[in-house]
Amino acid sequence: MSSLHLNAVRQFEQAASLLGLSEADRAILAVPKNEVIVNFPVTMDNGTVEVLTGYRVQHNNSLGPYKGGMRFSPAVDLDEVRALATWMTFKTALVDIPFGGAKGGIAIDPRNYSAGELERIVRRFTFALGSNIGPDHDIPAPDMGTNAQTMVWMMDTYSSMASVADRHTVRRVVTGKTVATGGSRGRDKATGQGVTFVLDAWLNRTGGSIDGKRVAIQGFGNVGEHAARTLVKAGATVVAAADHTGAIYNGNGIDPEQLWQYTSTHHGIKGAPDGEPITDDDLWRVDCDVFVPAALENQLCERRALDLTATVVVEGANGPTTPEAELVLADRGVTVLPDILGNAGGVTVSYFEWVQNRAGDAWTLSDVDARLRRLLRDATDETLAAAKEFDCTLRDAAYVVALRRLTTVMAQRGVFP
Ligand code: NAD
Repeated sequence: MSSLHLNAVRQFEQAASLLGLSEADRAILAVPKNEVIVNFPVTMDNGTVEVLTGYRVQHNNSLGPYKGGMRFSPAVDLDEVRALATWMTFKTALVDIPFGGAKGGIAIDPRNYSAGELERIVRRFTFALGSNIGPDHDIPAPDMGTNAQTMVWMMDTYSSMASVADRHTVRRVVTGKTVATGGSRGRDKATGQGVTFVLDAWLNRTGGSIDGKRVAIQGFGNVGEHAARTLVKAGATVVAAADHTGAIYNGNGIDPEQLWQYTSTHHGIKGAPDGEPITDDDLWRVDCDVFVPAALENQLCERRALDLTATVVVEGANGPTTPEAELVLADRGVTVLPDILGNAGGVTVSYFEWVQNRAGDAWTLSDVDARLRRLLRDATDETLAAAKEFDCTLRDAAYVVALRRLTTVMAQRGVFP
């Protein structure tokens, strides 16, 4: 089994070579600054006590406070969290927001726990992390298996541990909260919306348009569902969709709202009347123009890369493409809009939420969308310019843009003492 963290390091190393970066810069970025592991007991509904392990990896804070999601999934381990934290550092640098990179999580399947058990898990995890997170230090957000409710529990627990006078000022300790508790309008759809904005920006610059594009999507959670909704709104047709329960195909188009209605009552796509059932592997073979991986890492392997009919992949998930598949796609002329650009919409609107919380403000949805579109268009343009400058893939180019920003600040700040 290859190391996901090693994959992440190899990705930035390639761009570091293009830029001729120093060994010192590479060594600093190859490892996270801090790795926090907490073991904590939680009482289950039947009275038994389960001891769980939680992680928070803080990769780099040269550009600002650590920032990144909390993932609840059985596959969570230190290697995965290290990789995800590393990607966050480059993502925030690429879109030019004043945050560093972090990630955390617990190795549980949240579907196996009741709402009450989940609440106790989240609250006890937050308590165990203590001052390792903080509104100007390290700011968690939702990721796979977590959502706005998870963030509200984290915020409420953290606030309860703060001094009485600070209980409201610290609510920006997490982003991705519900709008009612201080979240930003548009944060729920931000990552999926970002997939659409980045694709649109790239198509605009290469003489195309989303209108009429046929799209296949893996994952119908927060990212996949909102990518489907926003792509359809922009004129695309979703012809195939899959989640952990199954996959469907409908050449005439799948209605995201209808599919969401089905999945939210049936806990998955399996059996949905919106299309004919297909296998997991068939999903990667369907006739389409655009493929959006929006589930797990390492899903687009060499074999699937050879099957793919799409000419562009927009990475909604983190690390969905294996290094071997990347070579096949480049060889076949398939464009990959890399994860640190493709799914950067989430952390960008998280930044907007943090700014609104600091200012005691609440922006309109159209304001949030306009600002998001502008930042992602700028990041896409910078990535395209770097790809031209170095004659490299868009992934390498995105890392070039991020590394330039990071190493400029690292050089000016120097190495203490
Ligand atoms: P989620 O938990 O809301 O949804 C995950 C989806 O993936 C579900 O539909 C699930 O059924 C599906 N899935 C799981 N295993 C699968 C499998 N083996 N085959 C097919 N589908 C499978 O998670 P999410 O927040 O949508 O995150 C998805 C990806 O996007 C992750 O890589 C995450 O790190 C990344 N991401 C999320 C955000 C965010 O704001 N939520 C931001 C940036 C990146």
